[in-house]
Amino acid sequence: MSTDVSTEVLVIGGGIAGMVAANVAAQLGKSVLLIERGSEEKYPCNTRWTGGTFHVCHTDPFSGQENLLQAIDRTTGGTARKDVALALAEDSPRFIRWLRAESIRLISLGGYNTCVLAPPSRIGPGLHWEGLGGDVMLRTLEANLKKRGGHMQRGTRATALDRSGQDGIVVQTECDDKTANFRAQDVIIADGGFAGDFEMIASYITPHTKRVLRRNACTATGDGLRMALAAGAALSNGMENFYGHLLSRNAMENERLWPRPYLDALVTACIAVDGDGIRFADEGLGPNYMANAVARLKDPLGSFLVFDQAIWSGPGTSALIACNPHIPNCGGTMYKAQTITELAGMAGIPGANLQHVVDDYNQAVTAGKLQGLSPARHTDRYPALPIKVAPFYALPMCTGITHGMGGILIDGNSAVLDKKHEPIPHLYAAGTVTGGLDGGPAIGYVSGLTKSGVMGLRAAEKIAGAKLSSQRQ
Ligand SMILES: Cc1cc2nc3c(=O)[nH]c(=O)nc-3n(C[C@H](O)[C@H](O)[C@H](O)COP(=O)(O)OP(=O)(O)OC[C@H]3O[C@@H](n4cnc5c(N)ncnc54)[C@H](O)[C@@H]3O)c2cc1C
Repeated sequence: MSTDVSTEVLVIGGGIAGMVAANVAAQLGKSVLLIERGSEEKYPCNTRWTGGTFHVCHTDPFSGQENLLQAIDRTTGGTARKDVALALAEDSPRFIRWLRAESIRLISLGGYNTCVLAPPSRIGPGLHWEGLGGDVMLRTLEANLKKRGGHMQRGTRATALDRSGQDGIVVQTECDDKTANFRAQDVIIADGGFAGDFEMIASYITPHTKRVLRRNACTATGDGLRMALAAGAALSNGMENFYGHLLSRNAMENERLWPRPYLDALVTACIAVDGDGIRFADEGLGPNYMANAVARLKDPLGSFLVFDQAIWSGPGTSALIACNPHIPNCGGTMYKAQTITELAGMAGIPGANLQHVVDDYNQAVTAGKLQGLSPARHTDRYPALPIKVAPFYALPMCTGITHGMGGILIDGNSAVLDKKHEPIPHLYAAGTVTGGLDGGPAIGYVSGLTKSGVMGLRAAEKIAGAKLSSQRQ
């Protein structure tokens, strides 16, 4: 196969994983070409739209290796790949120091938000990105790559890999309706995964693709996954699980209601019911678990949160971009009534069912016997609050998929693994196209940005056969 360009390292995708990998490889002396499908100067991607918090299981990345390993173990019920978990726990601080040395500004917003890209993007309901954290970071890293002699080619989509030759991997691409072949010694797939593509969502997550929201930039359309599979790669467990949030149902058509405010603080304080008024999942397992549970319902657009005035005035106001007052202010539907039966009538839920479910729940809260409910309600992380103080509320919701938790199986150095779990020579992957870390029984969310950056850095160091010296971090 003839080739148009040759390089030592070819990176597919210009989000954080690809940008970090490309810069570190160039720092370590490699010739680098990054190809990016988006053609605009500020091409959209999840990194550009990110909330910007670098964390590991909602824990400060500088809280110590042992602490991070325990957090990953707890969050995933011990199912995370040990080598990738160790890579993250070991290298998160080193990666964040590297980012700072690249002139990326990080600030603290309190709580686990100790390392947040500045200027922060969480400035109000709806999507805000231009001139903010993720956008500034990508433009800075792109400029740094150029200064290091690396190249970036926009408007170029990788479509296939050919590993049959003796001399590296050939990546087939499309650019302005033309095809071109790039040869590289090593290839890093960093295209963000598949959560922007309805067909792939249908293959892995839910057949009801038009009844879930793609809470993402819709740029991750599964090319990397398909190329890796064709090259013999294994996929991780948990392809059906995703990182996402519950949102007002009106977010399906109202852009002011996503990516924020999301319902995390509410769903973990009250009850979620389906269209029959019946609880369907354990709210105490957390907001990400509940977002997945809603996607698996017969009708993912048919569920509600039910709570009272005390919850609305308490947890409802607690997030950075809180549901109260933003959901009603931005046009999100909320039913409000003095009794549960009246509320059920307004929401179109069978009143007797809802009354029964709320009564059972309140009794269990009073008696401290929430484990006896069906489904059980955990209280170790999120206390269950009673639903007793009128007025009562029903909030119709939808689920928003940010990115998949499953993906290409990699080892602790980002090498793509085959079905025997052996590295496929010269093929690497980093970012949300990879799996094997998040998941477990509670569908625990470990990390988006931090994992993407650390594994991008690791891929580049493995390819270069060298580590960045400490002065460069
Ligand atoms: C609204 C929102 C808020 C978030 N907030 C947080 C947060 O606070 N903390 C956190 O940790 N995570 C957060 N995340 C998740 C985090 O942003 C992602 O985990 C991370 O940005 C993924 O980076 P990536 O490089 O893997 O993918 P991406 O940033 O999606 O980049 C992949 C790139 O590959 C390109 N591409 C796709 N296909 C091809 C192809 N065939 N050829 C060439 N290029 C291709 C795409 O155009 C894209 O530019 C958030 C995400 C969203 C959407």
